[in-house]
Amino acid sequence: MSSLYGVDVLTSAFRSNQGTASTLVRLIRKDAEIIARKTDDPIKIMTFCGTHEWSVSHFGLRSLMPPSVELVAGPGCPVCVTPSEDVENLVKLAGEGVIVYTYGDGLRLPTTRIGGNAARSLQEAKVRGASVRTVYSFLDAMRDAKTHGKDSVFFGMGFETITPSYSTVFKKGMVPNNLSFLSSVKLTPAAAKMTIGLYKEKGLSLRGVIAPGHVSAVIGAKEWEFLPNEFGLPTVISGFEPLDVLYSIAEVLRMIRESKTELVNEYRRLVTWEGNESAKKANRIVFDEEETGWRGIGSIPNSGYRLNQHFGETYDVEKVFGLKQTATLPLESDIPPICKCGEIVLGITKPTGCPMFGKACTPDRPWGPCMVSAEGTCRVWATSNGVSTPFAGENS
Ligand code: SF4
Repeated sequence: MSSLYGVDVLTSAFRSNQGTASTLVRLIRKDAEIIARKTDDPIKIMTFCGTHEWSVSHFGLRSLMPPSVELVAGPGCPVCVTPSEDVENLVKLAGEGVIVYTYGDGLRLPTTRIGGNAARSLQEAKVRGASVRTVYSFLDAMRDAKTHGKDSVFFGMGFETITPSYSTVFKKGMVPNNLSFLSSVKLTPAAAKMTIGLYKEKGLSLRGVIAPGHVSAVIGAKEWEFLPNEFGLPTVISGFEPLDVLYSIAEVLRMIRESKTELVNEYRRLVTWEGNESAKKANRIVFDEEETGWRGIGSIPNSGYRLNQHFGETYDVEKVFGLKQTATLPLESDIPPICKCGEIVLGITKPTGCPMFGKACTPDRPWGPCMVSAEGTCRVWATSNGVSTPFAGENS
């Protein structure tokens, strides 16, 4: 990747700040050493945003960590956790002549249960002649649906960051009646709570959390208070540039060294305590929270958005086309055979622990959901090398 506003700018900014980076790394190593004198426990820190994992991998931040510090990616990729059933339903609708709109990642997302000669993704359905259209935004789909006036459906994936782009146009009555909505919107604090609860239950060590910056810009920093308060975990809401992430790691280690559990907002240039009030209000007007299925993880209470009754009557894909979105599908039926995405999104297994990684599953031909999106841990590792040295891959 190479662009004026992309990697090269970030890489050169990181390089030009090598003094700051070196200071932060020195602090991290010093604090890790002090902590290691008190306990042999590894210092496992979890990120809850795929873009953090991208920064960690792309800029080789793991290679700068002392051996006792382990950075793991949690369920921070919305594409990875979108249930197979949602794609299966859309493949079915596309086969029946309904126009399906999706982001590029949704196009390539593989299903699990469709067998025989049926299309295994929306991309395959499109190749076979179904009307599947890739869009950059919900607005693009709205404009197109208004123009043709035919039955159509939008694949509404994403975390809290993207939700206001849906709710504001529903609230303003701008969505055409022939465009229904399949909501696969997921809410991250509920998944974080479930993941950390699982770590506690299984006796797995977790010492700190780096919370998602962009999600927090919408929901507000206060939504992460439960991490230090209920789980005793030092937590830093972090931006995504390599210095942001290094600083956040240093903050987590400082708190562990000082035996403090606080919530630190490193991303103050974007994240406020309350979040974006108008976006949250639009979400409240349009959506209801509900129990929803997270692919590879299972069902989590209050972890998704569904159009409420007022908007659902006209737009909810279930009501319009009589489909079913099941919150409680058995886990093993939602992940393709052999794929270890269920363990990878929980940070229990690394991509290299999957026998398919880089062999039968590659970014060009993803077998499992974690290899599809630029935020998916398997794809990040396949394209950036999760253990690379600093600046590795900058010319890719
Ligand atoms: S490498 Fe592919 S098959 Fe293996 S866990 Fe990752 S996405 Fe699943």
